[in-house]
Amino acid sequence: MSGPGDTGLTAPRFTRALLDPSPSGPLGGFTGKAVSPEPIQGDPTRFSKRMEDAGAAADQQLGDKQAGGDCATCPPRIRLEHRSQYTAKTRYSEKEWVIADKFIFLVGKDVSGKFRTLSVRVAEPAGASATWEVTPIGEHSGTIPKRTGTGNRFDYTPEVTNAQRPITASRKPNPPVQYSIKATITHEGKSHEITEVVSQDERDIIRQEYVDQRMWRKGFTLHVPYRTRIKETTRADLRGNYQLILDSAMTELLTATEAAYGEKVYVSSGWRNPRRNLAAGSQVPNSNHQHGGALDMQPVGAKQMTGATRRSAYLRLYNAARTVRSRVVLLEKGPRAVYPSSAAVPEPTPEMPDHNEDGIPDAATSKGSRVESLFDIASHVHIDRAAPDEADDD
Ligand SMILES: [Zn+2]
Repeated sequence: MSGPGDTGLTAPRFTRALLDPSPSGPLGGFTGKAVSPEPIQGDPTRFSKRMEDAGAAADQQLGDKQAGGDCATCPPRIRLEHRSQYTAKTRYSEKEWVIADKFIFLVGKDVSGKFRTLSVRVAEPAGASATWEVTPIGEHSGTIPKRTGTGNRFDYTPEVTNAQRPITASRKPNPPVQYSIKATITHEGKSHEITEVVSQDERDIIRQEYVDQRMWRKGFTLHVPYRTRIKETTRADLRGNYQLILDSAMTELLTATEAAYGEKVYVSSGWRNPRRNLAAGSQVPNSNHQHGGALDMQPVGAKQMTGATRRSAYLRLYNAARTVRSRVVLLEKGPRAVYPSSAAVPEPTPEMPDHNEDGIPDAATSKGSRVESLFDIASHVHIDRAAPDEADDD
């Protein structure tokens, strides 16, 4: 009956159905609940650091100190919930209280000039009172003038200074703002302690950069982006200092330019988070690169091209970009435009011939410079759209 090499043992084939936590699934034998690979509420963008923090917080809970607890329900199940006054006001209902892993928050001054207040409460045991102690983790998380208190709920207001929240040029991601929250509750006459860490995820770390810039950088008026504008990407050339990108128009501009150009385009600079924008040498406080509305593009392989071949590739890319709906298209050398904004390049004619066949008339000039030489020195074609008129600032 058994063929050669058949051991007679049959293992179930590994299929997705095996991971189905439903006990009424088609496969016998597997009735246990599958372990979810996403303990962080299914948000795939959380930092792994965040997982560590969650783990540390869980460890703290397991090590929950009991002062001789021996009542039937000791230690009690303690659950804390968090809320940001800011997010509750603008993005969520007033009733929104969430567990630490789902907590989103920013610190620093809102548009009214007040520091944002964060809140924590004891959700379980319901109505229990706690003694609170909140401790900033790292200098970059600021200081909390009133960081202890008593009651079911505790509001705390972190204050941050420019020295603590740097707005200087950088090509590295900022660390998350984090607070360690210790709650001591009394239950059946015994004291129980729980410590939890709240931490910004990558989206909030990115949004925090905009709050910081708005507070201290002269002339910076870009809005704090909505979390939904911050996205995953497979194109590394669009990234700033983070894995996620802020994309208000980039992908649309790039796709449209590539369609008109008929080839893939290399993006030498896509989204720049504000600190990266400074690192790129931008002199424009509200550069559209910072909200993901601008691209610096090069023909693929341009670095290996020379002479008429290079000029002609840049001219084709420049003209392709000009067909896309945008605010402006610029031929740039570094941060400086070398050709008038969005202006057409004259076509060769019998009177203005193009002997070297780069598509540019040999004698064409712009402001006293030969157009060919301007294309020779160009480092990229910049295209952008205006910043979206939407605010998540207050
Ligand atoms: Zn640019």
